[in-house]
Amino acid sequence: MARNFKPYMITQFQSFIHTLDLKRKINHIQIHHTWEPRKSDYKGESTIASMWRYHTETRGWQDIGQHFTVAPDGLIWDGRSLEKDPAGITGYNRGGIMFEMIGNFDQGEETLEGEQLDAIIAAVRVLLLKFNLSTNDIVFHREHSAKTCPGTGITRGWFLNEVKNRKIMELNPNSYDNADQWKRIAIDWLYEEGLISAEDWKDNINKGLPLWAEALVLKRIYDKAKA
Ligand SMILES: [Zn+2]
Repeated sequence: MARNFKPYMITQFQSFIHTLDLKRKINHIQIHHTWEPRKSDYKGESTIASMWRYHTETRGWQDIGQHFTVAPDGLIWDGRSLEKDPAGITGYNRGGIMFEMIGNFDQGEETLEGEQLDAIIAAVRVLLLKFNLSTNDIVFHREHSAKTCPGTGITRGWFLNEVKNRKIMELNPNSYDNADQWKRIAIDWLYEEGLISAEDWKDNINKGLPLWAEALVLKRIYDKAKA
């Protein structure tokens, strides 16, 4: 039996998640590395398909374990249905969206960097905003396991700092989605600072800032400064 997988570039992933309407309640984002395959083993879709075969044939799971696989070239491959809990962390999968990053990110092995780092960071930001989650809701596999996953070379502090501050430069500057990107970065920041809620912006991201929204944000900054 064969199964196809679909790759998203960052901007396509943003559009896909933006229009997603999930019945399942999402309460955390799981971060994993594959360990094997390594970055150097990556050969496009066939690498995702062989993980799927391993998960379904060898381990007997209903489907590939992860919802998304982030490749060294920055492509985000789809996977398990988002309406299903992942098979990522034994006992801690309920409500999770699971990312596998292809590579062995244990210290002295491979490095999470470049397009792959851009892709995982952008994807995590999009999901936090979509599901009204905070960086506290990002879960490393090793927090609930004896494994080192997502690799001893990746500290939580470093990763969260990237989520908050990384500038994603590789987006096509001429695309509509990228023209939109500055708004998303600003909105993510306002959200992290507690100045807006996800609901304030859900349907307004593409419409520019209405005057009421500017007034709302200014008032919240004023109230915060006064408190
Ligand atoms: Zn893991």
